[in-house]
Amino acid sequence: MFHAVAAACCRLDDAGFVRLREGDAWHIEAGRGYYAVRNNSSVIAFRIGAKAYPAADGFHFKLTASHSDSPTFKVKAVPEIAGVGGSIRLNVEAYGGMIDYTWFDRPLSIAGRVLVRDGNRIESRLIAPDRDLLLIPSVAVHLDRGVNGGFAPNRQIDLCPLFSAGEFDLGAFDALVADEAGVAPEQVLARDLFLVNRQKPCVWGVADEFLSAPKLDDLACAYVSLAAFLGRENDSAISVWCCLDNEEVGSNTKQGAMSTFLPDVLTRVCAALGGADEDYRRALAKSMLVSCDNAHALHPSHPEKYDEGNRCVLNGGIVVKEAANQHYCTDAFSRAVFSALCADADVPVQTFANRSDTAGGSTLGNLSNIQASMHAIDVGLPQLAMHSSFETMGARDVLQSIRALEAFYAADLRIDGADAVAIG
Ligand code: ZN
Repeated sequence: MFHAVAAACCRLDDAGFVRLREGDAWHIEAGRGYYAVRNNSSVIAFRIGAKAYPAADGFHFKLTASHSDSPTFKVKAVPEIAGVGGSIRLNVEAYGGMIDYTWFDRPLSIAGRVLVRDGNRIESRLIAPDRDLLLIPSVAVHLDRGVNGGFAPNRQIDLCPLFSAGEFDLGAFDALVADEAGVAPEQVLARDLFLVNRQKPCVWGVADEFLSAPKLDDLACAYVSLAAFLGRENDSAISVWCCLDNEEVGSNTKQGAMSTFLPDVLTRVCAALGGADEDYRRALAKSMLVSCDNAHALHPSHPEKYDEGNRCVLNGGIVVKEAANQHYCTDAFSRAVFSALCADADVPVQTFANRSDTAGGSTLGNLSNIQASMHAIDVGLPQLAMHSSFETMGARDVLQSIRALEAFYAADLRIDGADAVAIG
């Protein structure tokens, strides 16, 4: 999440966006773009349309939101386990709900942030060693004859990766981290480090139909929404792009979708433009959020796990997700608006609903709506193997989804409660 946000900030910098610090006073102008970062793991960027304010009928926001985090394993505070034969394993615990077996027998590394002390100053540094450093070895089939009949690895016993087979003594991991941060081991005060799958992303298939990579959930959505946000805008709106941390662990952190980060940014934008509290309330009533998080594409071996009609396929275009229990925030109003925009842009839209006898997932749209309530829809890119350490999607869905979200950012939306909306 730290590197995802840092990469996004580089793109925003390149596009001329100005970083605003949450602790500073904000001075913003119509026609310009800005962004704010919280915890270095969530970012909200916004651009004030040249005619967005002042406007006779107030202003409004058009937002997309994705998440910066992905399921993985986090290194514990005491990071090493001394093992048999002089081995050292890393002591890790689950971050989110991953498919455990996909983490075995592949080169791994670490990435994240470390807090280092330099005299009277403590500062955060990102590290991501570009080396294979770890691996979680399987037990040989000869020693575990039942493995193909049902494999239930124990996270404390089986999933702590091998760091050294005897070459190093305890403390070697801390020394490595300090070296990567460019400081002495005693200067490292704390760290948020996560396991990283080292396998490179690839486009594959005879017809280049497939795109596989770690963390497609949800960095694929972060990518396409940022591309659309940077690519198109509407003069009369305030365009907003959010990429928020901690969706995989419930979003209820100081920087997650349930935090005050989004309303804090939106109210401060409103105030900096000279708006009063009522102007903010009026803006929310006329605003719309597109929550972007990947959807489950039809698995060719297991169609029985999907609804008969409300299911999506790879390379079929962006997916609108809907659930009666409102774990997805889509309703008839938001679906109508988004579908019409995509139809006008000649972009295909698919649909997803869970089987009626299956509890589905949820995402960040309904949670951010607790803090800043507005019309909202849940969309995503269709993918296979969600929460595997290496996920797969349709290569063509990248451009299709960018075009769909560009249509949203480019549109002249005039929402009037839930009665009517003019789109143009
Ligand atoms: Zn997700």
